[in-house]
Amino acid sequence: MKTPESGPVGTGRPEALLSARDVTRGYERGRAASVRLRRPDRVEVVRGVALEVHDGETLALVGPSGSGKSTLARLMLGLEEPDSGRVTWRGRNLAERIASERAADSRIRDLLSLVGLPPDSTRRYPHEFSGGQRQRIAIARALAVEPVLIVADEPVSALDVSIQAQVLNLLMELRDRFDLSLLLIAHDLSVVRHLSDRVAVMHEGRIVERGPSSKVLNEPRHPATRELVACESQSPRRFP
Ligand code: ADP
Repeated sequence: MKTPESGPVGTGRPEALLSARDVTRGYERGRAASVRLRRPDRVEVVRGVALEVHDGETLALVGPSGSGKSTLARLMLGLEEPDSGRVTWRGRNLAERIASERAADSRIRDLLSLVGLPPDSTRRYPHEFSGGQRQRIAIARALAVEPVLIVADEPVSALDVSIQAQVLNLLMELRDRFDLSLLLIAHDLSVVRHLSDRVAVMHEGRIVERGPSSKVLNEPRHPATRELVACESQSPRRFP
C-alpha cells in the first residue's frame, strides 16, 4: 500500500482520494407499502455516513443485503446526489469532475488483451460471452478511463467459485500493476480478507465498525460484524 505524502494543510492527515462526509440519502416508499408498514413515505437508506478511500488502498464495504452499500457506492461515484452531505474527489466537489473522451479502436483492443480476451471479441454479441468473460469486459470498461480508483460492487458474487478466483486474481493483478485504489463492495468475507487493506461495516445505513481488515474480521466488535463473521464460518471458503 502506498503512503500518501501530503494532505489538507494543517490537518497532519493524508488527503483522501474519495471522501463522503455526513452523506444522507433517502427514497420514497410506495404509498401502499407506507400504509401497510405504518411507516413514513420516505426511508433513509444512507444515514450520515463518513467514509474515505485513500491513495493505493483497497477498502471493502461489507454488510447485509439492504444495508445501503450500493446506494453509498452510487453516491460516491456521483451517479446519485446525496440529500445532504458532501462527496469530494481529492478535496473537490464531485460535480466538478471532468471525463475526457478517447479514441476508441486500438485502445479497446489493448484493453481486451489486458484482461485476457481476444481482440476479435469486439465482433461478438454480449450473449456470446460467458459470465467470467463478461466480468473481464466490465473490468476493461472500468480501466478504459485510466482510473486511479475503481468501485467494484459485488464483482464476483454471481460467478461460479472457480471463476470467482480467476476474476479476483485479475482484479488484484491490475490493481497492483496500475496502482489503483479499490472500493470493493462484497458480502462474502473470504473475498474481503483476500483483497482489502481496510474494512467498513455497514448496517442499516450507517458505518458501524471500521479498521484494518485483519483486525475487524478477526476481532469483530459490533454485533452486525459478528453476525457477518459467524455467517462466513458456517460456509468457509479460501481463495488461492
Ligand atoms: P445493499 O447494497 O447493502 O444491498 P442497497 O443500497 O441496494 O443495499 O439498498 C438499501 C435499501 O434502499 C434497500 O431497502 C433498497 O430497497 C432501497 N433502495 C435502493 N435503491 C432504491 C431506489 N432507487 N428507490 C427506492 N429504494 C431503493
